This record gives sequence, C-alpha cells and structure tokens, in this order.
Amino acid sequence: NKIRLLDSEKLTAVGQLAASIAHEIRNPLTSLKGFLQLIENTMPGIKKEYFTIMTDELTRIEMITSELLVLAKPQAQEFKCEDIGKIINDVIMLLGPQALINNVEFDVTDIHALPQVSCINTQLKQAFINLIKNAIEAMPQGGKIRIAARKVSEEQIEIQIIDEGHGIPKAFLKQIGSPFYTTKEKGTGLGMMTTFKIIQSHGGLLNVSSEERKGTTVLIHLPIHPTTKQEKNE
Ligand code: ADP
Ligand code: MG
Repeated sequence: NKIRLLDSEKLTAVGQLAASIAHEIRNPLTSLKGFLQLIENTMPGIKKEYFTIMTDELTRIEMITSELLVLAKPQAQEFKCEDIGKIINDVIMLLGPQALINNVEFDVTDIHALPQVSCINTQLKQAFINLIKNAIEAMPQGGKIRIAARKVSEEQIEIQIIDEGHGIPKAFLKQIGSPFYTTKEKGTGLGMMTTFKIIQSHGGLLNVSSEERKGTTVLIHLPIHPTTKQEKNE
C-alpha cells in the first residue's frame, strides 16, 4: 500500500504555472481586501453578514494563493546546510497550540544529532507544517503523533510521521497530492501537492501509507549533506 505520488515533470510544470498565477492574484486581492474594509467602516447601512462572507471568501483565496506561492522558484533563497532536528522541533513548537486544542500529543524520538541536510529552511519547514497539520486534522477526537528519524545509509536520513487518525481509504490514496484534492470542508487540497514538490526539489522521497480507522504513516527520505558525510567518515 505504499505509493510514489505524481509524475515529477508534470508536477514541476503545474507547480510553476500555479505559482505564477498565485503571484498575479496576490496584489489585486490585497487591494480588494483593503477597500472592502474601507466600505465596511464608512457605510454602516450595509448588512454586516455580507462583509463577513466576503472577507471569509477573500481569506480563502488568500490561503490558496499563499500555498501555491511556496511552489515558486526560489529566488533569494538558497540551499544551506541545516539541522533537520531543529527544523522539526520548530514546527512542533509552532503547531503546539493547535495540537493542544485538539487533544493531540507529540511523541518525538531521535530527531536530534542527525546528520545535516542541505535544504531551503523555510520550504522544508512548510513541508513539515503541512504534514503535521494533516495529522492533527485527521484526529478530531485527539490522539498521538509519533515523529521519529534515523540515518538509513551514508546517503539518506528517514523521517516518519505517524498518526492515529481516520486514515485514507485505499481508493483515495492515489489522489493524495493531486491539486485541489481535499476531503475537508475548509481544505485547500494544496498542502500535499506542495509538500511532494518541496521534498522532490530537495532530492528526497515521500511515501504515504494508510489504513482506515487506524492511521496514516508518512515516510520521508532526504539526502545527507555531503560535507557532513565526509566529517562522519574521517
Ligand atoms: P487539505 O489538508 O487542505 O485537505 P492536503 O493536500 O493537505 O489538503 O490533503 C489532501 C487530503 O489528503 C486531505 O483532505 C485528507 O483527506 C487527506 N490526508 C492527508 N493527510 C492525511 C492524514 N494524515 N490522515 C488522513 N487523511 C489525510
Ligand atoms: Mg493539509
């Protein structure tokens, strides 16, 4: 039940197009939001709930565009040697409040003292945010998210994110990572696509396996930074 998702070339083309469209939508969206607020403040006669709906919908467009923008070609960003344990730890801290509200507990093992990874920090962080958020959202009744990491070879480290959530029916497993595939009322269906794209651009691999009502396991392989490898060999 393990699969590699989405053809990489297709993903790159779709991603680049999506990101450039998102970029173009961003500016008019910001001005729309601004003027909407202005109208709300200066025209008290208009129904309040109209503004709430409009603002909510604009926020939704904003959410979609910002998720797509992650796919944009990194310009100022460059690959740097980073401590992956620290990146994961930062994400856990960031999502701590959301986990707490949802009765979700983290069980983290061995993420420290891993060999360093060459990455764009903000992108990898975004990938882990997407994955851990999904894990939290898969457990509306609460539960545990296990996060573990290890060196699997001289070249690779592996990170596992295991939840006890509702899982993904076998028939839908193939859809995960397709643009706009979501089963959530307020979902964008862009998180997994972005995550696949990020891991792929880092020379890594992402696998999703799942069992209904048991939970989902996400397996990530990332290449070890060459200089760290050398240090280890000496
Ligand atoms: P979104 O979270 O906005 O729905 P994603 O691309 O992040 O979009 O995820 C797409 C879909 O994949 C989700 O709607 C959900 O059905 C499924 N999914 C992803 N991760 C998990 C998980 N850990 N457990 C169960 N289902 C998941
Ligand atoms: Mg998501």
